[in-house]
Amino acid sequence: MRIDSCPIPATCSYCSSDVIYTSNAAIYGKEYGNGRVYKCTGCDAYVGVHTGTDIPLGRLANRELRQLKKRCHSLFDPAWKGKKVKRRQAYSILAFKLGIPVHECHFGWFDMDLLIKAINILQQSEWHNLRS
Ligand SMILES: [Zn+2]
Repeated sequence: MRIDSCPIPATCSYCSSDVIYTSNAAIYGKEYGNGRVYKCTGCDAYVGVHTGTDIPLGRLANRELRQLKKRCHSLFDPAWKGKKVKRRQAYSILAFKLGIPVHECHFGWFDMDLLIKAINILQQSEWHNLRS
């Protein structure tokens, strides 16, 4: 798998507190997956890392961003899990509609504006048709 780089967060983009690299037991109560996370010391924002690296999976996400991201996946994933398009094609279509390069089309990288824009696109009937 290609690992795209997302900058290591030093300061929280939501509350400006320091961000620490720590065990994800701080979030889940016990270590889960690869066990590492970047976590804000001031609010509930965090992001996991690619296993075996300290490279963040995406941008630091607070609760609101995580919910929007989940909503995107619930609308997006059924398209490529169906028969009409492959995963790569689905990302290409979405990237085109969002007006961004396909290699930047990762929900984990999106900010709130882009997630909302994606949700609007994914709710259109055209996208709905890809799923069936
Ligand atoms: Zn914060």
